[in-house]
Amino acid sequence: MKDSRRDLPSVNALLETSGVKWLLEQHPRRVVLDAVRSAVDAARTAGIAQPTEEQWVETIASAVREASRPSLRRVINATGVVLHTNLGRAPLADVAIRAIGHVAEGYSNLEYDIETGQRGSRYSHCVGLLQQLTGAEDALVVNNCAAALVLTLNALAQKKEVLVSRGELVEIGGSFRIPDIMARSGAKLVEVGTTNRTHDDDYRRAITPKTAAIVKVHRSNFTIEGFTAEVSVERLAFIAAEHGLPVIHDLGSGLLLPLDDYGLSGEPTASVALASGATLVLMSGDKLLGGPQAGIILGTTAVVAKLRKNPFARAMRVDKLTLSALEATLRLYLEPERALKEVPVLAMLTERVEQIESRARSMVSSLHSSNIDAEVAPSMASVGGGAFPTADIASRAVVLSKDAERTEERLRHGEPAVIGRIAGGKLLLDLRSVLPREDGVLVQAIVRARS
Ligand SMILES: *Cc1c(COP(=O)(O)O)cnc(C)c1O
Repeated sequence: MKDSRRDLPSVNALLETSGVKWLLEQHPRRVVLDAVRSAVDAARTAGIAQPTEEQWVETIASAVREASRPSLRRVINATGVVLHTNLGRAPLADVAIRAIGHVAEGYSNLEYDIETGQRGSRYSHCVGLLQQLTGAEDALVVNNCAAALVLTLNALAQKKEVLVSRGELVEIGGSFRIPDIMARSGAKLVEVGTTNRTHDDDYRRAITPKTAAIVKVHRSNFTIEGFTAEVSVERLAFIAAEHGLPVIHDLGSGLLLPLDDYGLSGEPTASVALASGATLVLMSGDKLLGGPQAGIILGTTAVVAKLRKNPFARAMRVDKLTLSALEATLRLYLEPERALKEVPVLAMLTERVEQIESRARSMVSSLHSSNIDAEVAPSMASVGGGAFPTADIASRAVVLSKDAERTEERLRHGEPAVIGRIAGGKLLLDLRSVLPREDGVLVQAIVRARS
């Protein structure tokens, strides 16, 4: 019997075919070579009949396409979770994107004082805006909020004790646990109270000469209900002051504008958190603030100066692209109405449901003209990213009932990838987390997925 595997063409022969030559003109040689080799290997293992030249080129071209796709790529978030950590949290405002491009293109005054012609500080850049917007005496921007917590505890409580309520020893997600982070900072964690109830006296009793700070962790991704008690930041500030201790408030979310008018209440803004008496407030740049990934530390001049001098500040320093995007985003907040329109996270969270409904209707009618069955249905969106954990936000979804699983998979593998959710055997594409300018692209993606 003839072994068809022996008839496989050599790698060199394949490289000489016109189809592969064309690929070599478009792509790096090593990418094409790898694709040719793996196509030959695959054919050898599969032991299939000799493919035609056209089939070889098709297989190789598809491997080249796969290898050339960026690993980090654009996704349309149709999950309805606006701050989806796995999908990159906050999309940036146009001004922030332009600011990044502008600074990335050339040199910048990152650590250069243009007035004096002397060395400057990267830490000077967003400080003025943060002071104006939050009332903080001083501010420091680092890589993310977790870094802010490590830096803060290391600078203020290394080899000393910090008090934290047992009800606040939370896991933020993705194996990030507050107690682990705190331990790595070199501070010793002293747990006070119980999971559901912590009182003033629990803190008072735990204070010893070794105590260096009291930490308040915002319960950002869950609530506890029932027989509960916690000590407010105001009370903590009062207790801490009796002993000359700082209160560190890990706020997480980074809300700068109240959203009560839009049905989202219960999350303190940064200025309210500061006004409550915390010495330091820590927050993320890419949660409700709607900017780039960053950790923002707000606080008193003396304490922030101490943090700036800590070696961790250097290890966790923020880069120029982040600073440029953060500054542009913060500037939008000088006009709150503008921030609500132009910071995508705020625009998505505050979009009127009637508006989402009308977007959904027009998408569904485009789909109908492509002979695709779809309908508009009510959906519940959420904030995500550890903020307003219990808030359900009324939304609308484009619903595809036929072939839901297969459509979901094809959409996920498309370009751009579309991430929706399956519920009750139907595919739901919630539009609250879809940027309005993506609506057309989303329709095209659905049409492709159903073709
Ligand atoms: C999200 C969150 C963090 C972590 O913030 P990153 O910027 O992701 O590092 C820390 N603390 C709280 C309370 C949070 O909600």
